[in-house]
Amino acid sequence: MSSYMALYRKFRPDGFEDVKGQDAIVKTLKNQLAVGRIGHAYLFCGTRGTGKTSVAKIFARAVNCEHPADGSPCNECAMCRAIAAGTSLNVIEIDAASNNGVDNIREIREEVAYRPTEGRYKVYIIDEVHMLSIGAFNALLKTLEEPPEYVIFILATTEAHKIPITILSRCQRYDFKRISIDTISMRLLELVGKEGLDVEEKAVRYIARMADGSMRDALSLLDQCASFYIGERLTYEHVLEVLGAVDTQVFSRLLRELLNMDARAVIETVEEIVMQGRELSQFAADFTWYLRNLLLVVSSEGMEDVLDMSAENLARLREEAAIIDSDTLMRYIRIFSEISGQLKYAAQKRVLLEVSLIKLCRPQMEDTQDALFDRIRAIEKQMEQLEKKTVHARQDVRAAYVNAEEEGKKTAEPPALPKALSEDVKLVVQDFRSMVQDISPLLKTYLKKARLSAGEGNCLQIVLPDEVSESVVKTKEHIQEIKQLIADRIGKEIEIDVRHVEEGQRFEESFVDIENLINMEITVEE
Ligand SMILES: [Zn+2]
Repeated sequence: MSSYMALYRKFRPDGFEDVKGQDAIVKTLKNQLAVGRIGHAYLFCGTRGTGKTSVAKIFARAVNCEHPADGSPCNECAMCRAIAAGTSLNVIEIDAASNNGVDNIREIREEVAYRPTEGRYKVYIIDEVHMLSIGAFNALLKTLEEPPEYVIFILATTEAHKIPITILSRCQRYDFKRISIDTISMRLLELVGKEGLDVEEKAVRYIARMADGSMRDALSLLDQCASFYIGERLTYEHVLEVLGAVDTQVFSRLLRELLNMDARAVIETVEEIVMQGRELSQFAADFTWYLRNLLLVVSSEGMEDVLDMSAENLARLREEAAIIDSDTLMRYIRIFSEISGQLKYAAQKRVLLEVSLIKLCRPQMEDTQDALFDRIRAIEKQMEQLEKKTVHARQDVRAAYVNAEEEGKKTAEPPALPKALSEDVKLVVQDFRSMVQDISPLLKTYLKKARLSAGEGNCLQIVLPDEVSESVVKTKEHIQEIKQLIADRIGKEIEIDVRHVEEGQRFEESFVDIENLINMEITVEE
């Protein structure tokens, strides 16, 4: 009796032609192989299950293969077979999550000194490389600086922003995209055919969507569902049942409760979902998808064809489209996609979901920009009812301001304080002076003279005293370095705009000094 093998293991791609949804990367790598211009360090980034390690392994076989065809390994020669069986000493796989210390990397450095006894290249595949300690990264860097010609490093990571710049700058970087629902569906249908399974197409599409861009997750989900209904046709209903998915009627009800701002009803619905044993992060993801479908119906005619749903559900969706506006809908979508991300890792999933839902029902509890938006709309409504006179007066002031700006008068008032200074920019500004300490010496010298302001869309403006300093700081590499430094500190990417103060002008005349402002705020709070 043959033992059962999980689909994702069974159908691991053998050659580049089996890798789905990463065409540009595959093409580049195959070209390099074809002309023999192989790099010594590659960085594969991207979310889980997008093919990083599969491509790394195919590449490792291809560089060692005795008879490669069109860049792909033959999978038949001695080298290909030894590597596939895991018996070759030429391909070394390391999981940095469990081997993250300096000693682990030193071991590699010692091994690297020896040429391969057979085949052409020693390939080190380091998975989850962002887990390496700082010491280990430094040790790795020394090898990357002077790699022997027979060594290739392939670093794979889901979190590229955690990799030091010194390492990044020595790697060819490839960003693996999430795989589209269509591509995953097609691959699943192909494999379903090979396995002789009977699966409804709608079920396949649902699984493809649930996999959220990850081919590996799609195959695991298909496995999970298929093993529940061995010998039976796997239907869409079956899949909903196995994956603990929620019927769309519940989404419809929840949306109406939210629009009515009926917190009590919302909490009762959550209670019901929990009692049914549904997975809450999946629930939030499904609800986001439901809202997305609704947005399609709201935004344009004839979108119904794009949606893959029953006539009955579609009718309900149209009804809802009539009672919700697209601004509110977009806001809900943004909030729910955030929540579903947070729920995946939250310890208290139910509490987190409930709190988020209650906040939607009571915008006055929230202090985020989104809630402000709600409150501003309420205020705007009141404003409309004010006397015409007031409105005219406001328009006059605005017109005067615009005129002054257009004429470019140097005497114009300094720009008004940006209303909602995003928390992230605030954090960066508060911490900026200490962040700069860790930056490369040249850049540090120039940034010491910089002052901070805020540009449009909450971007951080770095204002320098003259044009020369601006041109130094503004180079692509330097901006990238600053962005990376910020990303390392706050875990987010912030847009940066570098300017200089025009000759004969003072900083205060052209920019709002947010650094000063924030410091004032802190002092007041104390
Ligand atoms: Zn071969």
